[in-house]
Amino acid sequence: MRLFAGLPIVDDARLEIVALLDQLRGSAWPVRWVPDDGLHLTLKFFGEVSADRLDVIEEAVRIAARGTGPLSCQLDDLGAFPSPVRPRVIWVGVDAPAALELLYDRLERGGEAIGFPPEGSPFRPHVTLGRVREGHRLPVDGIDGYARAYARAPFLASRLVLYESLLTTQGPRYESRLALELTA
Ligand code: ATP
Ligand code: MG
Repeated sequence: MRLFAGLPIVDDARLEIVALLDQLRGSAWPVRWVPDDGLHLTLKFFGEVSADRLDVIEEAVRIAARGTGPLSCQLDDLGAFPSPVRPRVIWVGVDAPAALELLYDRLERGGEAIGFPPEGSPFRPHVTLGRVREGHRLPVDGIDGYARAYARAPFLASRLVLYESLLTTQGPRYESRLALELTA
């Protein structure tokens, strides 16, 4: 099974991204846009694991989440990996309190302790919107044209979810395997 831990995007922020995606889908760019369901901020990607590791992963996620309260976040500007001039992954940035990076670090260290190598790259909180199709390019400054297409809505992230990602021919579907309230 394919597992990752993340924060579901909720409230008005979710609606803003859904509306933005609707506009982006009309752009005719060579991009696979994510479905409206399952919008999230990835904190830890565990990848393909055998089902008998689920218990130990759940426990690591529980321990990492302990002591974290609800996080007041806000949507930020559009961006892209590896860079805005050569976008492969298009995303909306998330402005978050320091406690989010602390939670990220705890997941990284907890994952490391059970055999998952840390990312090694700086934490860039974001919500993925789409992935540019292999061998294609976007118009230069294309994403800049959407900078005003959504409100930088605030949202309260109060749930950490361990998702199973099911890759289907219609794209990925995410199912919650564990949902933890952030209540400290
Ligand atoms: P698809 O791979 O079919 O485009 P997806 O990327 O949404 O779909 P997964 O590959 O299962 O589905 O990824 C689940 C989540 O984990 C996504 O948010 C994805 O961006 C993130 N992710 C995937 N691979 C990695 C990785 N190697 N490192 C960090 N995060 C990753
Ligand atoms: Mg992927």
